[in-house]
Amino acid sequence: MAPVGDFFERVVDLEVTGEEAGPLAARMVDWMVAEGVITRETTGDAVYSLPVDVGHVPGPGWARAVADASDPSWIPGPVAVLVGRDQHVGGQGEYAADAVTCPRCSARTVVIDHPERFTADDEVWQPFNDGIEAWKETGRGEVPCPACGVHVPVTEWDFGLGFDLGALAFDFWGWPPLSLRFLAEFRARLGHRTEEQYGKF
Ligand SMILES: [Zn+2]
Repeated sequence: MAPVGDFFERVVDLEVTGEEAGPLAARMVDWMVAEGVITRETTGDAVYSLPVDVGHVPGPGWARAVADASDPSWIPGPVAVLVGRDQHVGGQGEYAADAVTCPRCSARTVVIDHPERFTADDEVWQPFNDGIEAWKETGRGEVPCPACGVHVPVTEWDFGLGFDLGALAFDFWGWPPLSLRFLAEFRARLGHRTEEQYGKF
């Protein structure tokens, strides 16, 4: 069944540097255009990938990228390309992660104390926010672990499902689920680890 509302499937490149992201994005677009998955034409309709407000119109071969193209209620929309170091959030777009796990000591720091609360503890989130902002500006940012005290780069923390840092991401607006084969080739062409997200505007 097709979802109600404006939803996206996102692929985040977790490893590309801010400097490499632009040229890599151009090569990925060239490849998807050559495959007929998207076109070079862009539109602002049904794209909510702030700060990017346009996406590539699907191409005649869009069905090649999805697991099942037979349901006529799915009409793929534009594919937005997000270049630049940023935090990518799935779901309904919370600004903070639910919990953060230290890669050194495995301690888990709770930010949103479900089910008691539905909003972030800003005091707990602040150092992570500061580290992410520093990383966005300079490519480097660290957060001291509340448990072990080690200053860990923000890109090494585990922010949990649906919260990823990366300098390149692709938002497929309104597409049926992408096929595992397409995702594997996508990842191979990026040449980096990736994470998938799903969300709604
Ligand atoms: Zn730690």
